[in-house]
Amino acid sequence: MQIHLYDTTLRDGAQREGLSLSVEDKLKIARELDVLGVHYIEGGWPGSNPKDAEFFQRIQQVELRHAKIAAFGSTRHAKNHCEDDPNIRALVEAQTPVVTLVGKSSVLHVEKVLETTLDENLKMIADSVAYFKRLGKEVIYDAEHFFDGYKLDSEYALETVMAAARAGADCIVLCDTNGGSLPEQVALAVQTVWERLAMSDWRLGGDAQSPIANLQSPSLGIHTHNDGALAVANALAAVRAGCVHVQGTINGYGERCGNNLNPDTHAPYVGRSAFAHKGGIHVAAIAKVAASYQHIEPELVGNELRVVVSELAGRGNVRMRAEALGIALNGNERAVLQRIKELENEGFQFEAAEGSFEMLVRRAAPDYAAPFELLDFTVIVEKRGANNMMSQATVKLRVGGEVMHTAAEGDGPVNALDRAIRKALLPHYPELADVHLVDYKVRIVDEHLGTAAKPRVLIESARGEERWSTVGCSENIIEASWQALWDSLELPLLRARRPATDVATTEAVGV
Ligand SMILES: [Zn+2]
Repeated sequence: MQIHLYDTTLRDGAQREGLSLSVEDKLKIARELDVLGVHYIEGGWPGSNPKDAEFFQRIQQVELRHAKIAAFGSTRHAKNHCEDDPNIRALVEAQTPVVTLVGKSSVLHVEKVLETTLDENLKMIADSVAYFKRLGKEVIYDAEHFFDGYKLDSEYALETVMAAARAGADCIVLCDTNGGSLPEQVALAVQTVWERLAMSDWRLGGDAQSPIANLQSPSLGIHTHNDGALAVANALAAVRAGCVHVQGTINGYGERCGNNLNPDTHAPYVGRSAFAHKGGIHVAAIAKVAASYQHIEPELVGNELRVVVSELAGRGNVRMRAEALGIALNGNERAVLQRIKELENEGFQFEAAEGSFEMLVRRAAPDYAAPFELLDFTVIVEKRGANNMMSQATVKLRVGGEVMHTAAEGDGPVNALDRAIRKALLPHYPELADVHLVDYKVRIVDEHLGTAAKPRVLIESARGEERWSTVGCSENIIEASWQALWDSLELPLLRARRPATDVATTEAVGV
């Protein structure tokens, strides 16, 4: 069975609180969705804002390989004819091959929100669908609040979708707009619609203008929201009951709680942690057979197997991570693992600091020689009256055979320390000029201790495209920062001095 994917990130997804997309963003996302092989891309509601109207103009110049672009809008207004309805006109002007019309299925919405009659609503649906069919468009009809409407008055809800079917809609999408339905309710309602469409008598009657001759039975689709955390379950139930068109958004972006799952690093299949292995027993097993702790091969969904190093690790975790870095440990696994466990007990965390893990491994090598050594440092922070804070650091480092004594001011104490260290190192290691600190984060370990709690500092550094994270932890935030800075500056020196892959070779030949 072929399922058609209809992506509405650019319309429904953009209704998420806190999400705003420029026209450029929308064009970029549309290209990516096309690369993914999505069948339909809903570009927006051209009648609702100039940004969407501009998108539809510009997307015409974009060559798409898979996806058809759909413009979204509501059925004609109760008082208008299609020809003079501004919303319908905007949909025509969008010049898309597909038009998605949203109409009301619930008596509550027809009478209390639209404030029109049940009969007029049926005409609005039929007229609008037939209008776009006459223009040669593929018409998808979104039955808004279908499942809620079905609960209130099932006969009327069914009548609205039959009106769309008789008018020639190519696909009828049943929407759980408020996201409160349960899978069994969805399955039952889809089943009922499917049975109605399977009977042939629905083709009789209806709007005289509609191209009722040779009418094909429309396919069925599903559009769910995640207010009951059941968007995916409801979509699956609908597919099982006969829907072949599924609407959704990337990462589940959408109004309120979203349309699917929230973006999450622990999301099934696509989350960064979906194939991350931390427990020592698991890692020992996957080293032998990758499938032993994975339900699929991560590469099938563009993900990858990752091994996490922490206090829960076994020697296998350390060995596999070190091998991934191109470093052979030659029996040092146990010592490195012991050190990791001690440091994690003190508040360090290596999961998010792979650079510091690499430093532990490199420092454990028998021929390790430190490129620099700290003798001492002083950091002064001063506040005088209403003046700004002043931070100054002095540092004494042994670099090669020389003792470097430097001082620097900074925006804050850590910045001053960073500058003073670099000042001492740059004459010996000018390549450090290309190394930048890109992120500095502080987390509190044992937060119940208040200001006596231990800060854990995480630093992210970059050189061109290359990035690494390092960690420090101490009761004193300056010391924790120094530890993370030390690793962050030593790592690129060691990598450059001797490529990681040489470590094993060097040791093997006894140099
Ligand atoms: Zn929606």
